[in-house]
Order: sequence, then C-alpha cells, then structure tokens
Amino acid sequence: MRLITTIREMRDRVSELKLIKSTSGGRENQTIGFVPTMGALHEGHLSLIRTAQKENDAVIVSIFVNPIQFCPGEDFQRYPRQLEQDKELLNRVGGVDTVFYPDIKEMYPEGYCTSVDVKNLGNRLCGSSRLGHFSGVATVVTKLFNIVKPDAAYFGQKDFQQTVIIKRLIADLNMDVEIKVLPTVRDEDGLALSSRNQYLSREERQDALCLYQALLKAKSLANSGETDAKKIIKEMVNVVNRTQSSKIDYVSIVNPDTLEDVQEIKDGAVAALAVWIGKTRLIDNIILD
Ligand code: AMP
Repeated sequence: MRLITTIREMRDRVSELKLIKSTSGGRENQTIGFVPTMGALHEGHLSLIRTAQKENDAVIVSIFVNPIQFCPGEDFQRYPRQLEQDKELLNRVGGVDTVFYPDIKEMYPEGYCTSVDVKNLGNRLCGSSRLGHFSGVATVVTKLFNIVKPDAAYFGQKDFQQTVIIKRLIADLNMDVEIKVLPTVRDEDGLALSSRNQYLSREERQDALCLYQALLKAKSLANSGETDAKKIIKEMVNVVNRTQSSKIDYVSIVNPDTLEDVQEIKDGAVAALAVWIGKTRLIDNIILD
C-alpha cells in the first residue's frame, strides 16, 4: 500500500493504474474504486473499502480532514487524526493500492478561491445549523474526483444528506463517476459507527443510543400504518428527550430526493435526526419503506 501526499504523484499513480499491462502483454483499462474519508477509520469505512475492492481492479482511499467543511467553533482542531492506526488497519484489511493523504496547502494553496455550492439541498437538515458545510463537502469531493478520476466512489448512508448532494453534484456537473451508497454500519447495540463517537464518555455513549431508538420508533410506527409525519416526529422527539444529556438539533422526515419535509409518509421517505450528546453532535437516519 502506497501513501501519496502530493497531487502530482497521485495523478501519476492513477495514470499507471488505468493502463496496467494485462497478462497477455497488451494494455487494458483498470477500474478505480475510490473511498473518500477524513480518517479515524472504523468498520463503517472498511465496509465501503471492501465493496470497492469487490467491484474494481484497484482501490484508492483518501484521508483528509477538510478544513472548509467545518464551521467556526466546530471540532476541526479536535477531530481525531490517527494516521498510523489507520494505515495499520488498512494493511490488515489488505487490497488498498494507495492512501491519498494530502496536507491543507496541497489541497488549498495560496490564492485558492473557487467553491462548489449545491444550492437548496445544502441548506436543509444539517445545512441549516452547519452553514457552508455542504459547500465544503461538494468542493473537496469535486477536487478529489478530479485528482483520482475514479470509475466509482463509495459513500455511507449514515451521511444521507451528503449522498443526495453528491449525486446531484455528479448529475449537474456531468461528472463521469458512479456513486454507490452502502448501508450504515452499527455497533451491536445499534449506535451508528462514527469517528466522532471517540468523543463520548461512557455515560454519553449510552445516551447516544437515543438516536437509533428514535429511528426504530419511527420505523415501527410507519410499519404499523402511521402515515402522519408530524405524529411520528413527535414520538421521535419524545424518545430523544427521555435522555438527559441530549439536545435536539433537528428531527425530520424528508423526501429522499429533494430533502423537503413530507407531511405524509410514502415509500422511501427518510427519517433523519441530529442530536447533541453533551458536546458531541451525532447524526443518523433510516429509510421508512
Ligand atoms: P468520514 O470519514 O466521516 O468523512 O466518512 C467517510 C465515509 O464513510 C462517508 O461516505 C461516510 O458516510 C462513511 N461512513 C461513516 N460512518 C459510516 C457507517 N457507520 N457506516 C457506513 N458508512 C459510514
């Protein structure tokens, strides 16, 4: 597994990978699967990597804590950075060709002033309390796609809004990348794996279960025939509020394409929530189908 830190070297490796000699001596196109991450890797990331391996000839993983997707006062400084541990984990999994690990100057050199904004979709849900977050995400994903030129890129359902925005970005800017969205990986008790779970104390880790419990409540109400989104949201809020250290950012049920609130539950509607557990903001979602 290579660790590459410059865009020039990354581009060279991509060119090599795309045209590796076939066993018959000729040249054939190899496909590249790409998994962008911010590091502090866990089983959620690994599930994306394993699928990328199954579906492609080569896999590239990026690790970059992207400063422009953090708002002032958020956890950019504190975000876990553990490259050695990440490399060890990836070596154990095997099959990753390259880890792209640029520094901030490499990605945003002096004079950098372009950004990508996926207008309405970026302002809803998480976007309303994290102003500019999704523009930061769309910008870095665009840059990474231009550098890595993947055939397919792998994202987690856990960041549902991000997947909707990236699909829109790909369609609107005619990017030639297939987007694959894989299910959320959870701990045994249901908590969605997240690099930010490291911030939680033992008590908070227990309290954090209220997110998944609220989603299960929504699912069971919808399954038993409740179609009134407001009623379901009220029940979800009750579940979260039973936990002392929780503070709701939002609890919503939205259309999976437009991210607009729905009044009536239809197949594919997504229940999504963001909740502060102490000083840690966690998100989760479930499809109500
Ligand atoms: P991050 O490092 O948090 O930026 O996440 C990198 C990618 O991993 C994103 O596509 C996330 O949606 C995905 N991811 C994070 N947590 C999980 C999880 N628990 N299950 C599946 N995918 C995840």
